[in-house]
Amino acid sequence: MMAGKTYVVEHLDDELGPWSELEYLTIAKESHEAGAQFRLSSVPLSLVLPESLKNAPGVKAEGESVEVLYATEKARVCLLDPSATKELRPEDGDAFDIFLFGGILGDDPPRDRTSELRKKGYENRRLGPKQMTTDTAVRVTRIIVQDKVPLDKISYVDCPELRINKNESTEMPFRYVKGENGEPIMPEGMVDLIKKDSEKGFGDLF
Ligand code: SAH
Repeated sequence: MMAGKTYVVEHLDDELGPWSELEYLTIAKESHEAGAQFRLSSVPLSLVLPESLKNAPGVKAEGESVEVLYATEKARVCLLDPSATKELRPEDGDAFDIFLFGGILGDDPPRDRTSELRKKGYENRRLGPKQMTTDTAVRVTRIIVQDKVPLDKISYVDCPELRINKNESTEMPFRYVKGENGEPIMPEGMVDLIKKDSEKGFGDLF
């Protein structure tokens, strides 16, 4: 019987904005549906969790770091790391039960903040050469270790263009999983948030 999987996101940003909230809600929903656990670690106690996250099924937000939470199971923890040399494979689901991700809003170009977790000495694996958002990295990991689909058999959408309005669009510099409809799978509400942010952004410029 394969031990249940746990997905841990170590929150490395010092605030938890709407982007992170939508990503974490998606991870919580999908993990719950897949019979897996989602733990959000290193959430500063000073930080007020959005109501939505508090009530989401399966979310366990912790003040402690992943190191403290899983001190005894360290050998069963796999860090998903864009700088790892080995790609994640389905059989890694036998060696690891806990998959660790950096709760970092992707930067373009990446600033390798995952290194903060790398130095803690976990085994690490890569999910291909392109940067993914945290929720995409969790989704791809789950497809590989739970559904046993190899990394290169998953369909992706790279750097999709999002239409903001009739004369503006913005490119998302990340790799996404391609949904049944051929569109990149993104957290519910994310497109609207991006539109709102970019309109606000442009608004400030002129
Ligand atoms: N810009 C950040 C990365 C943000 S992505 C940085 O410089 O580290 C957030 C998390 O998703 C990463 O910490 C990592 O755990 C995971 N991730 C994203 N893309 C990945 C990839 N190609 N391979 C492995 N893990 C990845």
